[in-house]
Amino acid sequence: MDIRYNVERVLDRVAQAAHRAGRAPEDITVVAVTKTVDVDRIMQAIDAGIRHIGENRVQEFVKKHEFIPAEVKRHLIGTLQTNKVKYIVDKVDLIHSLDRISLAKELNRRAEGRVIPVLIQVNVSKEPTKSGIFEEELERFIEQLQPFEHIRVKGLMTIAPLSSDVEAVRPYFARLKELFDRIKDKGYPHVDMEYLSMGMTNDFEVAIEEGANIVRIGRAIFGERYV
Ligand SMILES: *Cc1c(COP(=O)(O)O)cnc(C)c1O
Repeated sequence: MDIRYNVERVLDRVAQAAHRAGRAPEDITVVAVTKTVDVDRIMQAIDAGIRHIGENRVQEFVKKHEFIPAEVKRHLIGTLQTNKVKYIVDKVDLIHSLDRISLAKELNRRAEGRVIPVLIQVNVSKEPTKSGIFEEELERFIEQLQPFEHIRVKGLMTIAPLSSDVEAVRPYFARLKELFDRIKDKGYPHVDMEYLSMGMTNDFEVAIEEGANIVRIGRAIFGERYV
């Protein structure tokens, strides 16, 4: 497993997808998804140029936190339980998974003067096993976030359905981009529509072609997960 080679290969594929979409490769942030990955291997990815890492469980996030260089940005990409907010609220750079008001309330309460950047997770495909707001409820949800001064909506995130055919997921990414543009046009004062987080190992190139500027990549960098 040559992590340096994998990172270079991923960055190259990201750049090519960006060019196909007429966009600059530098505008796309690669979040290396480090769930189940030990600090040693994470450091190899950082040495190869990774500057953003993403965990999906709070316990793992906290365990590795102190061993990761301060300049590396930390993303929380998985479902966040309200009672775990207190463990990460002072450590996280971007939360990708805001999906309910009770969570917004707890983040706001625990922020201690900070403003916590969040993405709203949207369940575009409406799969029952997935978290996220349905698109029909998205605008109302955003309006309800207005009173929470210590969180700031920075964009949207989605997880596409698992499919062996990447073209089958393209419409879900295109749809999230439409929602992103629509909300941006509304000009809500408590929202900066800056980040569109979509695309993983199986589908990140299609996601970039459809407008993603954050991709979350695990296996293409660290190999298959067996735990
Ligand atoms: C695990 C995970 C990823 C990365 O998946 P890979 O297929 O390993 O690239 C991305 N986003 C979320 C929310 C995840 O849980």
